[in-house]
Amino acid sequence: MSLCALCLSQRDRPGHFPPHPKLVKAATLHSASGENAFAYRCLQCGETLLLAAAHAGAPDRWTCLDADG
Ligand SMILES: [Zn+2]
Repeated sequence: MSLCALCLSQRDRPGHFPPHPKLVKAATLHSASGENAFAYRCLQCGETLLLAAAHAGAPDRWTCLDADG
């Protein structure tokens, strides 16, 4: 499965970039460091995007959960 064009343009955007219209919030995650992460599922391609900071104190970014990159 691969990212749709909407997700491709979403990926690696800063956290203040709003989710695209096909993204629906799927879960709120709590990392060991106490940071919150937000998982969004795309209705178009079915992939999951994560809105999270890479480490404590870092700005939020949109990342992709796809292990294949
Ligand atoms: Zn998508």
